Amino acid sequence: MTAILDIDLNAIAANWRTLAATHPGATAGVIKANAYGLGATHVAPKLLAAGCRHFFVAHLSEALAIRNFVPDAMLAVLNGLLAEEVPEYSAHGILPVLGSLPEIALWRAEAQRLEHPLPALLHFDTGISRLGIPPAEFTALRDDPSLLAGITVQFVMTHLVSAEIPHDPINQAQLSRFAAIRAAFPNVPASIANSSGMFLGPEFGLNLTRPGAALYGINPKPGSQNPMQPVVRLSARIMQVQNLAPGGTVGYNGIWKAQRPSRIAVLSVGYADGYLRSLSNTATAMFNGRRIPLVGRVSMDLTTFDITDTPAEVGDMLDLIGPGHDADALAKEAGTNGYEILTSLSRRYQRRYAGLPTS
Ligand SMILES: *Cc1c(COP(=O)(O)O)cnc(C)c1O
Repeated sequence: MTAILDIDLNAIAANWRTLAATHPGATAGVIKANAYGLGATHVAPKLLAAGCRHFFVAHLSEALAIRNFVPDAMLAVLNGLLAEEVPEYSAHGILPVLGSLPEIALWRAEAQRLEHPLPALLHFDTGISRLGIPPAEFTALRDDPSLLAGITVQFVMTHLVSAEIPHDPINQAQLSRFAAIRAAFPNVPASIANSSGMFLGPEFGLNLTRPGAALYGINPKPGSQNPMQPVVRLSARIMQVQNLAPGGTVGYNGIWKAQRPSRIAVLSVGYADGYLRSLSNTATAMFNGRRIPLVGRVSMDLTTFDITDTPAEVGDMLDLIGPGHDADALAKEAGTNGYEILTSLSRRYQRRYAGLPTS
C-alpha cells in the first residue's frame, strides 16, 4: 500500500449527534457526492443507526445506490426532476425536491397516473439563484392550490447563500423571505440550514436541518475553533529519498532549488488523486508532530517533500491530512475549501473504515 485513507464512521455519527443536539427539530444527513467522497454506502447506515431519518443526495443515481441501505428513511434528490426519471422515483420511494412549476407538473401527473398522493419537497429560491422555485412561480403556487393536487408536501425548504459568514446580511434577508413563503404553507414543516446555517442562531433550526460538511469534520464556523470531530486521515508512504546537492532542483520545471544539502521524500500521490496541483511548493505534511514542506510541482502520481530536518526514511508514512493539519488546512494551502478536498479524494487510496456497523 502506498497511501491510506482512514475514515472514522464513529466520528461522523458523533458529529451528527452533536449537530442534532443543537436544535429541537429533525436533523438530516446530506450524503451527496458519495458522502463528500467518504463512501455513502458506509456513511448512510451509520447515520441511520445514530438516529438519522432524512437523507439528501444530488442525483437520482446516488439515491438508487443507497435506497436499500436506508430502507425506511426519507431519501430525497436535490438536483431536480427529469421527465424520464419520474417512474423510478415513485417505484423506489425516492422523493424529488421540486424546484419549478414544470417539475411540480411532472410529479402531479405521476400522482394522477398512479391514482394516489405522492410525497415531495418544495425548494424555494430566496436569493441563491441556482435551484429553487423563483418568486413569480411562488406567487402562482400560492394563488392556485390545484397546482399541487396529489402532491403531499413533506417539507418546504430553501438554501442559504452565505451561511459560513454570519455577519452577511443576506442570512437574515433569506430568513424573512422564507418566512413569507412558509406563511403560504402553514402546516408544512420547513428547512433552511446547512451545516454553517445551524450555527447562525436557533431561528434557523426550523423543523429540519440539512448538514453535510460538518458531519465529515469540515469546520462549519470558519475562523473559530472547529466544533466537529476530525473524520479523515490521509497518510502516504515515502517511496524513495533523494539526496540533493545545493543547486539541485526537484520535479517538473525545477521550480524548487536546494539551497543546502537536502533530503527529498517522494510520495506516490499526485493531482490524479485529488492532491491538487495548486499545492505545488506550498503545502505541508506532518511527521511525528513536525511540519514538512512540499517542494516542487505536484505531478500526476507523485509529490515531493523536503525532509532534510526530519529523521524520516523510506517506508515511513507522512500525514497529508491528519492531526495538526486537517482537510480545511490543506484546502487553505490549495486555495480552495475543505469540501473540494474531500470530494476529490482518490479512489486509488486504500480506504480503511473504523466503526463499520456490525451486522
Ligand atoms: C449540499 C447541500 C447541503 C449541505 O451543505 P453543507 O454546507 O455541506 O452542510 C444542504 N442543502 C442543500 C440544498 C445542499 O445542496
